[in-house]
This record gives sequence, C-alpha cells and structure tokens, in this order.
Amino acid sequence: MSEKNLQNWADWSAEDAEAEKSEVERLDGSSEMLKLPQGKTMLRVLPPKAGMKSPMPAASQHFIDLPDGKSVSFNCPRVHVKKPCPACEMVDKLRATGNPRDYDKAGSFLPKRRHYANVIDRKNPEKGVQVFAFPKTIYEALVSLRTDGQTGGNFTHPLKGFDVVIEKTGEKKQTEYKVFAARNNSPLSDDADEMDEWLASMHDLGRFMTILPYDEITKKLAGGAQDSAQQLPAPRGRGGAAAGRSVGDDQEV
Ligand SMILES: [Zn+2]
Repeated sequence: MSEKNLQNWADWSAEDAEAEKSEVERLDGSSEMLKLPQGKTMLRVLPPKAGMKSPMPAASQHFIDLPDGKSVSFNCPRVHVKKPCPACEMVDKLRATGNPRDYDKAGSFLPKRRHYANVIDRKNPEKGVQVFAFPKTIYEALVSLRTDGQTGGNFTHPLKGFDVVIEKTGEKKQTEYKVFAARNNSPLSDDADEMDEWLASMHDLGRFMTILPYDEITKKLAGGAQDSAQQLPAPRGRGGAAAGRSVGDDQEV
C-alpha cells in the first residue's frame, strides 16, 4: 500500500466491522460453498493443504431448528474441546426428565459429523476451488475409495488422481448419496498454470472447525426472536418435577 508511510494504522469502526461481518456471511452462503444439486455431480477433491493431514477434516456440528422456523448450526464445544455446550446441556436435561417425548426430542439436538473438502466442480470450473460440506456417509464412501487398492487409490493426487461422482437423490431427511469413481485417472487440470492456481487457492478448512464461545452459542439459539428462548426446553434438574414416568428400555442409545 502506497499510503503506508503516511499512516501505519487505521481506525476500525463499528460500521466497518458490521460490513465485514456481513460480507463474510455472504461469502459463506455463496459460491465459495458448493451446493450439490440433485443427480450426479462430478467433482475433483483436492489434496490436503500443506500442514493438514486430511483432505476432508471433520467437525461435530449441532443443527438446531428454532421455533421461528429458522435453524442454526455451530460446532460442539463439548466434542471438540471438552468445554460446556448449550446444545449438549439441552440434550442432558431432556434425557433426564424421564418423558419419552423429551427423550426423542433430545435426539434431534445431538451433534452430527460434517466433513469439509476443497473441490473443483467439473461442470463449473470457472468457480475455482469451492468448499464442499458433506455428511459422514459420503466421507465413508470416499475413504473406502482411497483405501481400496484394486479399484480406488489416492483420488486427490493432482497428477495421478481421479474424479469422483456423487449422486444425490431425495430431499432433506430423505436425502441419499452414492459415490462413484470416474473411470479414468486424470490430472487435476491439463493446464499447468490452472493447476498451480487451484492448488494455491485451496481454502483453509481449519476455519470450519472454529468453536464459538458459550455466550455466542446461547445468542444463536435465542435466534433474536422474542419467543424462541421461552420455547427452548426449560432448564430442569435431574429427576425434577416433570419426571413422573419411568424411562423405557428403548431409550438406550
Ligand atoms: Zn454439543
């Protein structure tokens, strides 16, 4: 920057901070994240960024539907760093009431594993390196491909790897995925410059492992809606007033 010698620092206004935050949120929800359409999508999974071991690191995430119809997600502090987690505490409380309905509800609050990978969408290569977030079913299929010496191999290798095809059918909770290997090995790109550019522009997947402070998560769960806090499970002591029913055998998980 040419103004460097004139002024070495700048004021960071609240307005700037707000603008930056919404820009980051816009990016998070936009082209940087791959949205998998219905049907088959051919992807190239990029190798681990230098310093990373896995090309598809995992986060344990809560997805919680709020009473106002919105939903929030965040990484679980209990699973990741053994710190208190408001969502896991709700699970504990619901399971302690002794009410089978509470117990079922608790299941929907449990964290789920989600993986992240840098990918090129072969149909839309102009979008560059995108982040693909996916459930453990896809992860397990991809690991099987990697470890199968006969039909698989290191599909992320920039020169000797191969593309993968992911087929999505169904919506929401009925969504199913199938994973296939492309028939032929291929380089990440035939153009050496493009390959270098893609490898250099891999996203730092570590940022998806961020753990929010407890208060921030509580705020997210309150959702800003006036009534949502009231509709969240009310705190109850273990074996509290609501516990009148016995815990059924089917409640072991
Ligand atoms: Zn948790």
